[in-house]
Amino acid sequence: MPRFGTVLFDLDGTVVDTVALIRESHRHAVQTVLGTDLPDEVLLANVGRPLIEQMQAFDMDRAEELAREQRAWNHAHTAELIRPYPGIAHTLARLGDAGARIGIVTSKARPTVQLAFDALPEVACHVDVLVAVEDTHVHKPRPEPVLLALDRLGAAPADACYVGDAPFDVAAGAAAGVVTVGVTWGFFPRQAIAGADVVFDDVPSLGDYLLGVGT
Ligand SMILES: [Mg+2]
Repeated sequence: MPRFGTVLFDLDGTVVDTVALIRESHRHAVQTVLGTDLPDEVLLANVGRPLIEQMQAFDMDRAEELAREQRAWNHAHTAELIRPYPGIAHTLARLGDAGARIGIVTSKARPTVQLAFDALPEVACHVDVLVAVEDTHVHKPRPEPVLLALDRLGAAPADACYVGDAPFDVAAGAAAGVVTVGVTWGFFPRQAIAGADVVFDDVPSLGDYLLGVGT
């Protein structure tokens, strides 16, 4: 028996390694539109929130233009730069075999998620439900996207967890009443997700926890 009947995952920095892809997409947008460069930690400070909100943090008045440039570069380079985290597809397969249902809850736009899924079918084939930015009016750190995924699966918060790399994931999961699982291999350092119920530094340890191995 898996530890949870429903396991919801954030996408970027949790299931797929888009650190280089997103960093360089943001850099391209900022350089092209604002004619400047920003340190990596500033570029990546809000990854996990909707793209438009991330661009607003760079320039409130030119956020639409920044988002357009970001999206164009991102889409053109997704297949080249996206990677699955080693072992993650195997973990999803084991969870599915054990009877858990698997959801992706992301602030990404659906067409951008689809590019990621097209590039990584070994990940996409295990996903039972996807909640993307178009699906809710409010976004992480609010709980609505997590609650919508549970609703679509007919799942109860008490039998679910949300796995993510960002403080926005921890906040959304906690507000939705699910167990919050932080991972440190994505965009944020451990101290940013210290509020999670449990934190893992590697995929095998996460997999053993979700599968209830050793409990
Ligand atoms: Mg993330």
